[in-house]
Parts: sequence; C-alpha cells; structure tokens
Amino acid sequence: MSHKVLVLGAGAAGLSAAFAAKNSGADVVLVSAGAGASSLGGGAVDDVPWEERVRAARTLGSPIELHAISLEVQSFSDALGIWDLPDQAPPPFVATVAGRLRPARGRDKGLLDLGALRGKRVLLPRTPRAGWDADAIAATLSDDPLARRAGLRFEAFDAPVLRFADEARISDGDLAARHDDPARIGWLAERLREAIGAETRLRDGEPASAVLLGSWLGARAASAAELSARVGVPVGEALVGVGSAAGLRFDAAQKRLLDALGVQRIRDRAVSLVHDGARFLLTRSHDTARIAADAVVIAMGGVAGGGIVYEPPEHGAGEDLPPRGRVPFALSIDAPVALALGRGPLDVVASMQGPELDQTAWPRDAAPSALEAVGVHAPGGRAAPGLFVAGDALAGRPRTLLEAVTSGLRAGRAAASA
Ligand SMILES: Cc1cc2nc3c(=O)[nH]c(=O)nc-3n(C[C@H](O)[C@H](O)[C@H](O)COP(=O)(O)OP(=O)(O)OC[C@H]3O[C@@H](n4cnc5c(N)ncnc54)[C@H](O)[C@@H]3O)c2cc1C
Repeated sequence: MSHKVLVLGAGAAGLSAAFAAKNSGADVVLVSAGAGASSLGGGAVDDVPWEERVRAARTLGSPIELHAISLEVQSFSDALGIWDLPDQAPPPFVATVAGRLRPARGRDKGLLDLGALRGKRVLLPRTPRAGWDADAIAATLSDDPLARRAGLRFEAFDAPVLRFADEARISDGDLAARHDDPARIGWLAERLREAIGAETRLRDGEPASAVLLGSWLGARAASAAELSARVGVPVGEALVGVGSAAGLRFDAAQKRLLDALGVQRIRDRAVSLVHDGARFLLTRSHDTARIAADAVVIAMGGVAGGGIVYEPPEHGAGEDLPPRGRVPFALSIDAPVALALGRGPLDVVASMQGPELDQTAWPRDAAPSALEAVGVHAPGGRAAPGLFVAGDALAGRPRTLLEAVTSGLRAGRAAASA
C-alpha cells in the first residue's frame, strides 16, 4: 500500500508541501477550505519582511542584497509558473498604489519591475477608477526616498486604457479577467502606443521608459510580458494592499499545478485530527467520511488565513464570567499540537478580554506583531511523529511567501518519508 500524506491548506505552504510529497513518491490528498493569505497578497514575493532588507542596507551603507534561492524553491516556483525570482542583483523593486517603492526578493510576473530602471521616467495613465488616482500616486512615488535615490520619475498621462463604461466601477479582479483575452491586450497595446507617442511629442521627444498600471493585467495568467512586447517598453502592475489580480493568478496557478501533479483535492473545512495508534484520521465539516493518512502537514495559515483563531476567555463566557482563564489563540481545528508566541510559550491571559491588542497587535521595530508570531510550536517544522507544520501556521517564522514555500517543501518531503 502506498504512503499517504494528507495536506491541510492550499496556500503557498500547502501547495509546496503537496509538490514535495508527490515528487517524493507519496500519495497526496489535500483538504482546503478555500483562499488564504497567499491569495490576498499583492504579488510581491519576499523571503524576509522587506523592511529588514532596507534597514540592513541602510545600516551597512551597502546596496540591498539579493539572497540565494535554493534549487528546490526555484524548481517549485518554475512549476507554479507565475513568479520571477532573479538570481542576480539588482533585486526587483515594485511600486505600491499607496505611493511607496520597495524591494522584493521576487514578484508576480504581472508586476512592473522598477529595479533596473534607474534614472528613467515612468508613466501612469489617468482613469476615472476609484483607487487609481494617477496624479497622486505619481507624485507620492516620485517623492519616495528609494525612487529619488534611483533617479526614478513618475508622471501621470492621458491614455484611454478603459474600453467600456462599466470599467470605471468594476473591481480590479473583474477588469483583470477582461485582460485574459488576447484581443483585449492587443487593443490596450495600441491605445498605450498612441498615448505614449502623443506624450513624447508633448515632451519634445523625451521618451517614456515604462508604464505602470493598476492590478488589471490578467486573472488566469499575467499578460504583462506580451503587452510590454507589443508596446515596446516595460508595462506592468502596481502592488496593491489586499485583494489583487496577482492573488487570483496564484489561485489559478495553484489549481493548474495540483492537476498536473495528480493531487486529490477536497474542498472542505478540517474539523479535527486524531491519531488512532496506527494512522491519522481527519474529520471534516461537510462530509462524514473520515480521511486516513500516514502523515499530515498542517499548512492552514495563521490568523489571516484562518489556521489560527483569536479566542480570548470572554468568547466562552456566555452570559456570565468565563469558566477559567486560557491562552487567547487556538488552532482552528482540534489537533494534538501546542501553540506558541514566536519562540516563547503562549501564556494564559489575566484579562478575560485577552491580551492588550493595542500593544501587541502591531509590529514594533524589528519585532513582529503577536498576530503574526502566534502559531503551532513545531521546532524544525515537526510537531509530533508524522505530524508536520508549514507556512504561517508555524510559530515565530516570518510571514512571507518564500518562507511558506521553504517550510512547505521541507514538511512535504519529511511527511513523505515519515
Ligand atoms: C494582505 C496580505 C499581504 C501580504 N503581502 C505579502 C508580500 O507582499 N510578500 C510576501 O512575501 N508575503 C506577503 N504576505 C504573507 C504571505 O501571503 C503568507 O506568508 C503566505 O501566503 C502564507 O502561506 P500559507 O500557505 O502558510 O497560508 P495561507 O495562504 O493563509 O493558506 C492557508 C490555507 O489553509 C486553509 N485553511 C485554513 N483553515 C482551514 C481548515 N480548518 N480546514 C481546511 N483548510 C483550512 C485556507 O483555506 C488556505 O487554503 C501577505 C499576507 C497578507 C494577508
């Protein structure tokens, strides 16, 4: 009988765990309740929080470093097919719709990489879309310290990039889906070429070097490369805070990869996990049939992804006082694991309202917020024999995509041989 690995969660950690376990010869079943943090991010792909890289470079007075990526992470990224993880400096720089320029270890291929555009002029089309004020974004970006150091200038210009009246109001995701159509990309390329030509004439021939758009360039796959080739200058998206076309592209790529790997995917909510002495048994919310497995990878995300829930004592109070104090966080399923806050234990809180979130829920200097540090206590990713943890579900690890992938690959490999 083949070795069966059960993966809980289909974000970057669960997907990479399934990839590694399958490539190690295991039979893999993946149970997921749906989208998590991996589908919410804007398309920057970090190994550590990017502020750390900027702080380190400032302290050392050196350029922002590009840390090596392991071959295994690179091969997972190649299989996923949506990220660019360059192996040579300069690191990618992405522009946010809030007007910041920031480095990243990699990027979704739809995002405009400004890392190699030192001293150049970048154009942003004016549109009537809420959330895309090209003049304000361009002014704020031009004032960003990293942009000034790189001599990057951002300017708004008139370009009719919306084709239909409703496109002033539909969501970024819906507009991105319209750009999955190659004919629409052809139309947009022509409009941009004309508008760039007119703008260059107005500027007495000073050429534009790139065009920055909103999160609109494809929901199934990024069309930025094809658009750039047709326009003749790099064209790509800005990074948005939550809910982006890049997140939709992650979801689409995740489904393609699971199909290609032949992983059985079950869309359901895990409820409890027990070990009966021989195998793990998973109970789910919608189906009464339990799933048995030899090894399990918990990759259910942290507080953002639904793997960890905030549960201060008052949640059990009913109409009276809570029966007892307790730790204020819990895994979202019953499982034989303990939680920790970073590297330290998770204490029972004195207040029935839980910890003072005003004090602990925000990162302070280099210390992450409690909401990003809490997770399963599993040194090296192993919580118990045959039970592994990866990604945001792990206590005290950076909440980044590449950390999720690295720990997912390690957990998947270990689970396949447990
Ligand atoms: C708004 C936002 C912006 C971010 N920006 C960046 C960024 O710029 N760069 C960067 O590198 N990282 C960023 N991150 C962090 C990064 O997205 C996460 O670290 C990474 O995606 C975590 O992946 P994961 O697989 O561990 O968890 P998730 O992607 O959260 O996946 C968890 C999975 O578990 C499933 N699940 C949860 N509970 C259950 C259950 N009971 N039963 C079954 N399934 C369950 C969920 O449905 C989901 O499929 C951002 C995160 C957020 C929220």
